[in-house]
Amino acid sequence: MEGALTARDRVGIQDFVLLDTHTSENAFLDNLKKRFNEDLIYTYIGTLLVSVNPYKQLDIYSKKQMDIYMGVNFFELPPHIYALADNAYHTMLAEANNHFILISGESGAGKTEASKKILQYYAVSCPSVSPMDRVRDRMLLSNPVLEAFGNAKTLKNDNSSRFGKYMDIQFDIQGEAVGGHILSYLLEKSRVVHQNQGERNFHIFYQLVEGGEEDLLRQLGLESNSQHYSYLVKGQCANMTSVNDQNDWRTVRNALSSIEFDNGDIQDLFGVIASVLHLGNVQFESDNKACSYVLLSNIFTIQVLSPFTVDYATYARDALAKAIYGRAFTWLVNKINESMENKEHWGTTVIGLLDIYGFEVFYVNSFEQFCINYCNEKLQQLFIQLTLKSEQEEYEAEGIGWEPVQFFNNKIICDLVEEKHRGIISLLDEECLRPGEATDLTFLERLEEKMGSHPHFVTHKLADKTTRKTLERGDFRLLHYAGEVTYCVVGFLDKNNDLLYRNIKDVMRESKNAIVRECFASMESDNRRRPETVASQFKSSLVGLTDILMSKEPWYVRCLKSNESKQPGRFDDSLVLHQVKYLGLTEHLRVRRAGFAYRRRYEVFLQRYKPLCPATWPHWKGLPADGVEVLVRHLGYQPDEYKMGRTKIFIRHPRTLFATEDAFEICK
Ligand code: ADP
Ligand code: MG
Repeated sequence: MEGALTARDRVGIQDFVLLDTHTSENAFLDNLKKRFNEDLIYTYIGTLLVSVNPYKQLDIYSKKQMDIYMGVNFFELPPHIYALADNAYHTMLAEANNHFILISGESGAGKTEASKKILQYYAVSCPSVSPMDRVRDRMLLSNPVLEAFGNAKTLKNDNSSRFGKYMDIQFDIQGEAVGGHILSYLLEKSRVVHQNQGERNFHIFYQLVEGGEEDLLRQLGLESNSQHYSYLVKGQCANMTSVNDQNDWRTVRNALSSIEFDNGDIQDLFGVIASVLHLGNVQFESDNKACSYVLLSNIFTIQVLSPFTVDYATYARDALAKAIYGRAFTWLVNKINESMENKEHWGTTVIGLLDIYGFEVFYVNSFEQFCINYCNEKLQQLFIQLTLKSEQEEYEAEGIGWEPVQFFNNKIICDLVEEKHRGIISLLDEECLRPGEATDLTFLERLEEKMGSHPHFVTHKLADKTTRKTLERGDFRLLHYAGEVTYCVVGFLDKNNDLLYRNIKDVMRESKNAIVRECFASMESDNRRRPETVASQFKSSLVGLTDILMSKEPWYVRCLKSNESKQPGRFDDSLVLHQVKYLGLTEHLRVRRAGFAYRRRYEVFLQRYKPLCPATWPHWKGLPADGVEVLVRHLGYQPDEYKMGRTKIFIRHPRTLFATEDAFEICK
């Protein structure tokens, strides 16, 4: 209650549920801003944590801070990511069930940093019985490795996650972290061969080229200069100040050795990276008859002769580079999973950490943004379902009446994208089934024909009327829950099909590089079946993810971006307000306050406030619920101000609690 009571005006209120009378968006914004200006980036809405990216290092993540939060009641200390992590952990142990922490927010809002802070908290503060904390170390070390291979600089974020990550941390009944498992979602492979202006390829390429030891580079036939590689300079910003590729290289290199990678694996892994770079530098010339290419005999020892035009050969080259990198990434995740596997402990419970690419809008948005933004719609839908559901269930379980609150439900947008036979993905897949006939533009025509009247779909014909912003021919616009995004259809069919030439696959299976061999051998053993399209695969994996999450108890971290220019300490009112709106934070608050703003288990409530009543101090001998009843009557609570549930007291207005808390402060 510290922030709520002392210096409330200066630092704002630490739990929005206690924000006295106003639940308006402006009051909400005002409170966030007050706190942000005092470097208080965390605020609760009940047990949901709102975090505003400070874009500067704050001294709040030390071991000392961790110790302060360990095992302490959620609301007794200022809001912190550690408090949420700790609360999830102790609830899991007490109730012996599974939990997950959903971290959401747009690109650059601080999701990945939050997930790392949580993992660090568990690694440092959970008990450790085993003599060697191999699993724990590996869980921590998996981060820099996966970030090197799966993150890149974008215009939104210098370290943007280009894959989705769900990580289960398994705990035994003593609360020791004994295993981990990662599921990865749709890596943005197209980045391997192309980057937009101001963006980079995946970090690992620059780390290897700029930081790799002389011997290693010589072996791989690489030069120590990113500028030399066509795949690294498309965005014209290979070298950037906010990232130190050489230092990061050492971190990654050491991490790989500490995880179960032997020297052969590591050699092969960098062989893959090098081969992609070499591929990118392969040029084609037309000799009127055919175009052949010899694939880097020192690495693959293969040769492909193909009667391709120059354009086709270039296309095939890029497709191969993407396939090699994408599959190696999957191999890497599997390898890390093997090393974190819990081999001995039974009866574990888990905390799942979900850190997935955030909603993003660029100047030009393609298939990748379509998938990423669809994923964010799904997560918002899950949030809506779970928060409404859990609130309703809580009232029911406690035997207390329920008054529903209106939400904007984004199910309509999810349906627009994913509905069977009718959604955008289905139409896209149908077009992909008409090779030779269908093009990106025929796909767009079908979309316009089928979706033209949908309230969240805008065609170029209608754009002027609805949003007054014109659309180019070749574009369509979706009105997402987080804002409108214009997508350019160019490349949709190709990226959704993601085909590789059969003969290239066959050749890859003969590669000298064990990772390449493994990656191309294990997949598609059945060549006759048509592989699932990328969008459909992604859709199924998101359904799978939803199922995983629905079976666990949720915790939420909502990350907000403070400004677009990554500047420390700058709070852009309209940008933050926009996020507060679309994330439904004030609705969430209203739901929390609809019936009863505050609720606490009888034991906890009694333990804290028992000094306020002679009958309950120092010990109450009867049932906690009875003690609470005696206590609140003594404090003068009116009958309509609170309700006694089965296990908790529910208090209608924050001011009632404030008064009690004030009395408590005085009597202390
Ligand atoms: P997201 O995963 O949501 O796209 P990140 O977690 O990668 O965003 O954060 C983007 C950048 O913002 C980080 O690289 C870091 O510079 C800064 N940042 C995020 N969270 C914090 C924090 N809690 N403290 C300081 N800086 C942060
Ligand atoms: Mg991220």
